[in-house]
Amino acid sequence: MALAELGLGPLGDSLEELRWTFESGKTRSISWRKAQLQALLNFLRDNEEQILEAIHEDVGKHRVEAFRDEVGVLIKSLTHNLDCLEKWVAPKKTKLPLAFFPATAELLPEPLGLVIIFSSWNFPMSLALEPLIGAISAGNTAVIKPSEISPTCSSFLATVIPRYLDNKAIKVIEGGAAIAAQLLEEKWDKIFFTGSPRVGRIVMSAAAKHLTPVTLELGGKCPVVLDTRFSSSEMEVVVKRIAWGKWGLCNGQSCIGVDYVLVEEKSAFTLIGLLKKAINKFYGKNTKECNDYVRIINEHHFERLHKLIRDPEVANSIVHGGSVDKEKLFIEPTILLNPPLESEIMTEEIFGPFLPIITLKNIQQSAGFIKSRPKPLALYVFTKDETLKKLMISQTSSGSITFNDVAFQFLSDSLPFGGVGQSGMGRYHGKFSFDEFTHEKAVLRRTLLLDLEPRYPPWNDFKLKF
Ligand code: NAD
Repeated sequence: MALAELGLGPLGDSLEELRWTFESGKTRSISWRKAQLQALLNFLRDNEEQILEAIHEDVGKHRVEAFRDEVGVLIKSLTHNLDCLEKWVAPKKTKLPLAFFPATAELLPEPLGLVIIFSSWNFPMSLALEPLIGAISAGNTAVIKPSEISPTCSSFLATVIPRYLDNKAIKVIEGGAAIAAQLLEEKWDKIFFTGSPRVGRIVMSAAAKHLTPVTLELGGKCPVVLDTRFSSSEMEVVVKRIAWGKWGLCNGQSCIGVDYVLVEEKSAFTLIGLLKKAINKFYGKNTKECNDYVRIINEHHFERLHKLIRDPEVANSIVHGGSVDKEKLFIEPTILLNPPLESEIMTEEIFGPFLPIITLKNIQQSAGFIKSRPKPLALYVFTKDETLKKLMISQTSSGSITFNDVAFQFLSDSLPFGGVGQSGMGRYHGKFSFDEFTHEKAVLRRTLLLDLEPRYPPWNDFKLKF
């Protein structure tokens, strides 16, 4: 549903309807929440083929990649939430100090109200629907504003979601920055935003006007620290995982994908050789013709990326790849060795198929390197050395730290997903999503028994000691 169709008046009416639905109490019932989660599950199962096609149309992902990162992940989350919902919704008794006697207390999870979810294009289904699963589980009414950069998925959600979900409680509103800006004028009970730090700042300022709480799932540069003290067969696995974490996750266009690698000088050429081998194994000799290799999302991002490697000093650091084809929005898997640290490729999130390798004298220096830059969303450390693991945990800060793999932290419902510092605030997945859309109300129940006089004026020194 586009705002042009809704007009500002109808938008107001739509939001009124959502607020009214929330006030009616309907979305608080566990049966409503379960029915909506089940309906979302049906939406995914009934429309799996069309969803995979829409993702392919917008982002060019192979159906296996699209199922793995979107449909599969969403089905897992829905099944988990349906299993756990009753436990999460139940009030939790809590202990009180003896001085409160006689009394009881509990923590009561209550929904926040009307929430809005802004999502980005790189995982066009899961980034819109995963937060929605949390919002529904917690009993809220919700608007989803998918990214205009993935128009097929956006339009698919706007057309098909109303056939499955309660349209008086959940609406999809399509549009770009102008519509988003209008939506941000409204008073929401929660804004859940996935996107760039630049727009994150706009969202947070708009939220401040109404004191609306925000979750900001942002991006940044996710480093890999590679300690090469592995056997040669282990190193092959390590480098395959790094290559997958760069080119196998939407071709670098992923917030938790590998941005750059830190490695000791003496191991750089071994690493480059193994990376080339992995690229060849994944995509064959002619990446340009390979259907498994995702293209750059649009011309704007193609130009942005191409500019990064046109910087002469950066171009000089290319040790593999570097070819581009604007018409096909193709950029070859590209490895760079020690591009200047002050160049844009090393100061901005790359979000594309370039992999800078930065060499250090010794791998322990990587903690200081990471610490001197904005806090990453994800940090990946490949090592068998327990001392190095402890050093990285204690000396660096990031949304998550994963040892000996890439991106797997995203898949577990028992691990919160979110950033810290410039990579975002708030967290979600599994119970964390439920909590993110919930206010845990403190409920204290006292009686009129034992009414002790010292609590009341007039004051005297005896009452101070009491
Ligand atoms: P973006 O910030 O350009 O857009 C995100 C959303 O904001 C879209 O829905 C868009 O329509 C809306 N928007 C755009 N301009 C706006 C404005 N002026 N006011 C209000 N809303 C506006 O980001 P993107 O290009 O879609 O995604 C790429 C960025 O998102 C990268 O930085 C990436 O790291 C990050 N990201 C983070 C996660 C995560 O889970 N942490 C996931 C995916 C992407």
